[in-house]
Amino acid sequence: MSSPKIVRGRWVIPGADAAVLTGGAVLIADGNVVALDEWGTLQARYPDAEVIGSDSMAVLPGLINAHHHSKGVSTIQQGIVDMLLEPWILSHRRARQGDPRLEALLSAAEQLRSGVTSVVNVLNAGGDADAFESTVRNTMSGYDESGMRAVTAAGFTTQSFLVSGAGEDERFIASLPEAVRPYASMMLPDDSRITEDEYFQVMESIWRQYNDHPRIGLWFGPPGPQWVSDAFMSRIAEHAESWDTGIQTHVDESIYEMIHGPRFYGQHTMLHLNDLGVLSPRFSIAHGVWLTQEEIAVMAQTGASVSHNPSSNLRLRAGIAPLNGLLEAGVNVALGMDGTTLNEDEDMFAEMRLAMRLHGTPILGESAPDADDVFSMATTGGAKLMRQEGRLGRIASGYAADLVLVNLERVTWPWVAPEADPKDIVLFRARAGDVDTVLVDGEVVLRGGMPTRFDLRDTGRALAECLSAASYPEANAEMVAQLLPHLEAWYKKWHVPDLKPWIQYNSRQ
Ligand SMILES: [Zn+2]
Repeated sequence: MSSPKIVRGRWVIPGADAAVLTGGAVLIADGNVVALDEWGTLQARYPDAEVIGSDSMAVLPGLINAHHHSKGVSTIQQGIVDMLLEPWILSHRRARQGDPRLEALLSAAEQLRSGVTSVVNVLNAGGDADAFESTVRNTMSGYDESGMRAVTAAGFTTQSFLVSGAGEDERFIASLPEAVRPYASMMLPDDSRITEDEYFQVMESIWRQYNDHPRIGLWFGPPGPQWVSDAFMSRIAEHAESWDTGIQTHVDESIYEMIHGPRFYGQHTMLHLNDLGVLSPRFSIAHGVWLTQEEIAVMAQTGASVSHNPSSNLRLRAGIAPLNGLLEAGVNVALGMDGTTLNEDEDMFAEMRLAMRLHGTPILGESAPDADDVFSMATTGGAKLMRQEGRLGRIASGYAADLVLVNLERVTWPWVAPEADPKDIVLFRARAGDVDTVLVDGEVVLRGGMPTRFDLRDTGRALAECLSAASYPEANAEMVAQLLPHLEAWYKKWHVPDLKPWIQYNSRQ
């Protein structure tokens, strides 16, 4: 055992379903957890070990952010206000282009400061094959530099550049007033855009390079079933199978994405994906706000996971996902921040609490998620989604030493009852700012709330310079202004079904 370390705390909280060790410590070596024991016992056995932590810390397993977009600065900072998903996505064209590496570093810093050690970062990149490759590679190297554990799910849009549904863009353009049509054409890709064949070539070369990397991985990230053809989705699933890698996509986020299923597939989207044969434990979806009970059953059968993103769902008026129904059906549920949390602070503790509060029901005897449920989602649920069960999401012998030390001074000030459950104290009261130290694979990557591998202030300054130097895309802004009312009018014509079934199974248990 090479140079063991001991991580100690007033409380060691090994996981949602494990007993808290008061005055406990974790012995780690070679990036792994070796043992959990009393601090005094480990200290006596390993007197030369480096000691991290103190009796004013709580030690938790690293949290897992199962769905994210690394923006560096938020859409609000870019001057893009929250609105319903479809117009919001169009509005992104008004954003200035940042530097993917700096954005990944800043996102990593924010997440580490919130106790997140692992992330599934979904990246929808554009441009030609070279531009696509450089965006993906720079994002991955940013995460690598940060010391965080990160999977990047990279993809690109092959259809529905304007409105949902294969072939619908042409119909939408034809419906526009003559003067607005040129703006719509700006949304369509030109001939230089990466092709599907080039995409698989680029993905293969990156995947080969990172295949043995202990922390950094590449997944497929088709942005959503309506944005890619069935044939492309099937090809992705075949490649993911042969490379033994993952797939993450957005499904049933907005109500219009839900309606897209019956309208263009003749059935709800997850049933269609099941018919395509692409669902499996390596397949995960983000959001799933409008999943039907049949779709939930199909997810439970196939082992596909969902990342629940309650903040983002509220901000973009997506709605409230059927979390209780998903948990009851035995679907694996993880928790994600989507780069769009309620307070713009990417606070995973706040996200756990939001998930817990949002799905409580007003009737006695009805089930509601408790602290253990949401803690599981943010740890073992995320680990299962990442297919890292037995490796991530718990503090136990043989698991990766991904550990979070929460400073308890503010959390327990001025007093807590001796009989209060330490897990409740931490999960109900801690915030991102209380995270002091974070280890990934046994390496300290955050100390005193600051990243150890890079200078946060310099990185922020560099991104600010890059964004200041990027010219404001005036033409795109005009295009958004011209198209937005027509886009909304287009979706307003879609028939919205009776929503009672969703509302009923959202509340009933
Ligand atoms: Zn997303």
